[in-house]
Amino acid sequence: MTGIARRRFDCLVIGAGGAGLRAALQLAQAEVSVAVISKVYPTRSHTVAAQGGINAALGNVRPDNWHWHMYDTVKGGDYLGDQDAIEYMCRAAPRLVVELEHYGVPFTRLENGRIYQRPFGGQSQNFGGEQAARTCAAADRTGHALLHSLYQQNLRAKTHFFDECFVLDLLVDQEGYVLGAFALEIETGEPIVFEAKATLLATGGSARLYRTTTNALINTGDGMAMVLRAGLPLEDMEFVQFHPTGIAGIGILISEGVRGEGGYLVNSRGERFMERYAPKALDLASRDVVSRAIYTEVKEGRGCGPNKDHVLLKLDHLGPEIIKSRLPGIRESAMIFAQVDPIEGPIPVYPTAHYTMGGIPTDRFGRVVAPVRHGPEEAVPGLYAVGECACVSVHGANRLGGNSLLDIVVFGRAAANHILEHLGEYRYHRPLPTGAAEPALARLERWAQSGPGESVDEVREALRLAMEQYCGVFRTQDVLEEGIRQVEALVQRMERARLKDQSKVFNTARVEALELENLMEIALATVYSAAARKESRGAHSRLDYPKRDDVGWLKHTLYYRDERRIDFKPVRTKPMTVDAFPPRERTY
Ligand SMILES: Cc1cc2nc3c(=O)[nH]c(=O)nc-3n(C[C@H](O)[C@H](O)[C@H](O)COP(=O)(O)OP(=O)(O)OC[C@H]3O[C@@H](n4cnc5c(N)ncnc54)[C@H](O)[C@@H]3O)c2cc1C
Repeated sequence: MTGIARRRFDCLVIGAGGAGLRAALQLAQAEVSVAVISKVYPTRSHTVAAQGGINAALGNVRPDNWHWHMYDTVKGGDYLGDQDAIEYMCRAAPRLVVELEHYGVPFTRLENGRIYQRPFGGQSQNFGGEQAARTCAAADRTGHALLHSLYQQNLRAKTHFFDECFVLDLLVDQEGYVLGAFALEIETGEPIVFEAKATLLATGGSARLYRTTTNALINTGDGMAMVLRAGLPLEDMEFVQFHPTGIAGIGILISEGVRGEGGYLVNSRGERFMERYAPKALDLASRDVVSRAIYTEVKEGRGCGPNKDHVLLKLDHLGPEIIKSRLPGIRESAMIFAQVDPIEGPIPVYPTAHYTMGGIPTDRFGRVVAPVRHGPEEAVPGLYAVGECACVSVHGANRLGGNSLLDIVVFGRAAANHILEHLGEYRYHRPLPTGAAEPALARLERWAQSGPGESVDEVREALRLAMEQYCGVFRTQDVLEEGIRQVEALVQRMERARLKDQSKVFNTARVEALELENLMEIALATVYSAAARKESRGAHSRLDYPKRDDVGWLKHTLYYRDERRIDFKPVRTKPMTVDAFPPRERTY
């Protein structure tokens, strides 16, 4: 590693979305030397795009408590979520949302001055048939408000930022300790080694894997792929959330907040078709249920438009006042991308890839955990993960809207607290073995080969199309096996890919090639895990195994990169203090 720049910190946080920033803030306030690395300027992280809000049982609009929130989350996740982590999250929610308000998040207000809350999908109707209203919102720009406030608080706490710096891989020693990361400074094209006593992955999701998606260009699952390359597994990768209301043909998100405010879906006959699929919750059933309903309406010929390929989201009846004050960003997106003003007409919508339920296996302290030599699970020393890249698992087989912004602040804080303890025990940096950065350097140098070859852009688009066609909303064994063949063939094509531009300074083509390598790992994890799970649960819907099977499949999937090995681990069905919610039939 001679000649490579080296930096040392107590803690390295990879990712500057809400998860990374909430953790970094806790650490910086405790006067730990903490560095946050982000491949984009921090406030461009995908958290900025979150619209609808963050869940907490504040009970500001209708009576509520954390126990109901817990029940809704367990049921929404189709009983695959770990109930100790879910209890922890739902109990912490009210305090952490108020804390966000104190950090400066400008929540929308009720007339009495309290935080405004709207109903969201999957929230129970416990109140004389009325639905809970649990999602705290700053108009329809909640993530924007949250991310900017957390960034400003970090600047005040003197967190070190390394912006536009791309992490390639973790640095690990012979005994399996994680000692930091190897990165590329995008501006100069120079490599840089970060050493740390604790490394926290907060690199976000991977829904760029699909052709139609709500996700930002940067959501390529980099942290998850790093973990696979370090020989560790990913958990529950078959569970990909398709959001029911992306703008048709484009995928840009129209928040569930629209239906929370009273918007609803109609088919070409003008029918409010959710009455047939979820008689009680209607348009506010959980996302997997609504996405399947839209898909079925279109497949059975009741789609709208000249190609009958979408349905309509109607909200003009809400009136201009509500639309302008509570959904201004949605109105703007609809006008720009669908050429419709929702005050006057409905928005054409269709399901779009949105969220990665699976990810890096962790416990509720944010520690990355993995089975050691096929034995019981243990914490990987020095490594933590939180946010969308992690699988705690609080979302189980299907995440409820508004629970991810909550997940990132709750577990960002919890992981930081555990890191503080860890730093108390590990007072010195362990020596970085010579050669620790060799595999990452080799990955970088592989892209210096020139000459004719495949184009990175073409391979990426082929991958995204294959995932949409062979690992989408509805699945069968044949379709998934064809998906495996297609993705494996693309892995081969990728080996022949070359970069035309070999320059160093701001070479975004090189970054995109490295991101595609990561997406390829995530694609393999997703199709292999999906082909292994022979039941339907949450977002994983198998036409050949239409029922949930709690006897055979109430367990988490683990996928390893080597030999594409699949393993399983039990669901933590015991909460921390309350009685468990045993699996029941899930209806809305
Ligand atoms: C359009 C949209 C709307 C949403 N609305 C809501 C909502 O209303 N409510 C809700 O609860 N959830 C919502 N979600 C989900 C939620 O916003 C995300 O799950 C959550 O914000 C993820 O936060 P994060 O901190 O884990 O990751 P992100 O915010 O995605 O941040 C990832 C960070 O990692 C960095 N990074 C990644 N790879 C590398 C690398 N190789 N090197 C260096 N840095 C790297 C990035 O630069 C970035 O800083 C929405 C999601 C989308 C896409």
